[in-house]
Amino acid sequence: MTVAIVWLRRDLRLFDNPALHAAIRAGHAPLLVYIHAPQEDAPWQPGGAARWWLHHSLLALSSDVEERGGCLLLRRGPSKQVIDSLIAESGAVAVYWNRLYEPASRERDSAIKADLRARGIDAQSFAGHLLREPFAIKTGAGEPYRVFTPFWRNLAQRLDSNAPLAAPTSLPRISVDSESLDSWKLLPSIRWDHGFSERFSPGERGAAKSLDVFLDSAFEHYANGRDLPDRRGTSGLSPHLHFGEISPRRIVHRLTAQSTPAQRQLAEPYLRELGWRDFAHHLIYHFPHLPTDPMQRAFEAFEWAAIDAGQLRAWQQGRTGIPIVDAGMRELWQTGWMHNRVRMIVASFLTKNLRFHWLEGARWFWDTLVDADLANNTQGWQWTAGCGADAAPYFRIFNPVSQGERFDANGAYVKRFVPELAKLPAKAIHQPWVVGGVSGYPQPIVDLKSTREAALSAFALMRSSGS
Ligand SMILES: Cc1cc2nc3c(=O)[nH]c(=O)nc-3n(C[C@H](O)[C@H](O)[C@H](O)COP(=O)(O)OP(=O)(O)OC[C@H]3O[C@@H](n4cnc5c(N)ncnc54)[C@H](O)[C@@H]3O)c2cc1C
Repeated sequence: MTVAIVWLRRDLRLFDNPALHAAIRAGHAPLLVYIHAPQEDAPWQPGGAARWWLHHSLLALSSDVEERGGCLLLRRGPSKQVIDSLIAESGAVAVYWNRLYEPASRERDSAIKADLRARGIDAQSFAGHLLREPFAIKTGAGEPYRVFTPFWRNLAQRLDSNAPLAAPTSLPRISVDSESLDSWKLLPSIRWDHGFSERFSPGERGAAKSLDVFLDSAFEHYANGRDLPDRRGTSGLSPHLHFGEISPRRIVHRLTAQSTPAQRQLAEPYLRELGWRDFAHHLIYHFPHLPTDPMQRAFEAFEWAAIDAGQLRAWQQGRTGIPIVDAGMRELWQTGWMHNRVRMIVASFLTKNLRFHWLEGARWFWDTLVDADLANNTQGWQWTAGCGADAAPYFRIFNPVSQGERFDANGAYVKRFVPELAKLPAKAIHQPWVVGGVSGYPQPIVDLKSTREAALSAFALMRSSGS
């Protein structure tokens, strides 16, 4: 039997894996390899929390592969060198993988594909990471989209609701040496990750279980529940999707196959959020400068404030004196994840009240989020800062007090992560300064009203100097 290398990257799954499926369908024995080459993603190599996830996800995948008789090979990069050496070691005639869309991955993958093909190796890549590939969706004029709603209208008509591809029931064992996962030292040396495993189970089974739990308990009320951070109103699938432990097609299929029109309507808000994920990838594919440069060029002249290290640390550590901001930042540190509504609030506070460059926040999230994803994180930060595609207008500055009162009305979320405030009555929990503050909890590091006005003036200045 001929051998095909199946190069796994952020598709750490056996179910609905197009590259793996194609290798088997072509009659090859699949040789599954994961290549650890973080330097190839520089400067966006996986941060601390994502490395924790990767470690556990690879363990889970190894065990699933072994259960089917096979073996997941682990090798340290560079990717091209490892692939060449595996071809020599195994006599592989083909290399298959699923496509990624970040600028560094695209550049590397195209060079590897061209080189392999020039040497007569069957190199093929497949679509499996998104609902639709970024180049498959275009405006009427053939251009990339810059606004979400028309993008989603187009994408929603092209959702792939085909049944997902089955996972192989058995895999061959090909004798090629593997490295030990522990030798990669992916786990943090300072163990700040114990809360991560209470919240998440990395791996394909964990992903399937999260989807089941979500469909059983939160799906029906998602349209409103998704905005309330004190409950499990969302799916928690973001790290599973980032690492490709579940395919978006599988989710769409679960939500839409055999559904009645009413159920389909219920699924729409959730599918739309998956659409935002596709939109973020569409943007990074067509505008590869986005991880560092604003989508709206006017913002190149915006006067961000000089970084005050003490204020930045207070934000990172959840000690700003603004309860919902602190609760969010502590949730992030303790669990490796933060609720979407609160991500917007903490990002608005950093970029508008403190007026720090959005990249400061994006970099902190990059290191601390288990779902850190270059496309989604860049879009989330640029959107909140006001400089992204289809962004919230700059003058829309989240008021963390009224946001807290609206979305965490009884203060349950704040109390969970900021226990110093647990005894405060609900009406004071989002602004403890009205009752004179609480001992052990900081006073606000900035005045919300005057910093809001200063941000609006800086924005007006940018607009007037640009016109
Ligand atoms: C400042 C900021 C930074 C962010 N950084 C990231 C990041 O690094 N990685 C990441 O996956 N998401 C990021 N998001 C988007 C969003 O907050 C998370 O995807 C969401 O909170 C994940 O929780 P969930 O899986 O329970 O979401 P659900 O509500 O269950 O949504 C389902 C899926 O849709 C996708 N999705 C939902 N909302 C968005 C969105 N606004 N943009 C893009 N995709 C979305 C995610 O893949 C998510 O798993 C960021 C948002 C902001 C405002």
